[in-house]
Amino acid sequence: MEYAIARRRMVERQIVAKGIQDPLVIEAMKRVPRHRFVEEALWAQAYGDYPLPIGDKQTISQPFMVALMTQALELRGGEKVLEIGTGSGYQAAILSQIASRVYSVERISRLARRARQVLDEIGCTNVNIKLSDGTIGWESEAPFDGIVVTAGSPKVPSHYLEQLTIGGRLIIPVGGRGSQVLKCIVRQSSDEFKEENLLGCRFVPLIGKDGWSEGEGGL
Ligand code: SAH
Repeated sequence: MEYAIARRRMVERQIVAKGIQDPLVIEAMKRVPRHRFVEEALWAQAYGDYPLPIGDKQTISQPFMVALMTQALELRGGEKVLEIGTGSGYQAAILSQIASRVYSVERISRLARRARQVLDEIGCTNVNIKLSDGTIGWESEAPFDGIVVTAGSPKVPSHYLEQLTIGGRLIIPVGGRGSQVLKCIVRQSSDEFKEENLLGCRFVPLIGKDGWSEGEGGL
């Protein structure tokens, strides 16, 4: 009950007051119990305006960033969406409230297992999780109406562009290891893409074949 109140306040002050307008995103943020995606010792902080540690040097993103990325996908319901970087599973849970099918890839097995467990417990049955290097996307399930990458990449991996439907949208932080620009790339035809910069951001690194190598430096 007290978490429901904290969640409502989070949506008012961090989501709506900061300019998120999509009613489907606002509803999803009101519904999903964010505290369940962090360890119990952090439940009291789960509705604060910041990322939180989830172990293995990874973080659950700031609520506003989750809302902004979801809004940028422009989902209307019924879509098939790919997320790279399952982490806690929270972003996948938000997507699962709007899209009809969510595919999410995580490279760290403990996180993938934990996310699966929480998503099952709260009844998100339309999320599929795969343990793999997500820099190559999810070929066998492509194409996707939306792809959201929740780790920072040195470049836009070509597999993501290839795995978008025409009209599909890719939301991805691109830049250095420590800070990036969040980009929205729309596939306009089989070989035309429109790119827009949304805002500056700081995500943990996307590590893999088309991303950073583990322990690699960078800006
Ligand atoms: N969306 C998550 C945020 C997780 S942080 C949430 O809502 O909690 C980013 C995640 O991306 C980390 O869990 C990290 O392990 C994962 N990651 C980094 N590189 C990856 C790759 N190549 N493939 C899949 N997951 C990756």
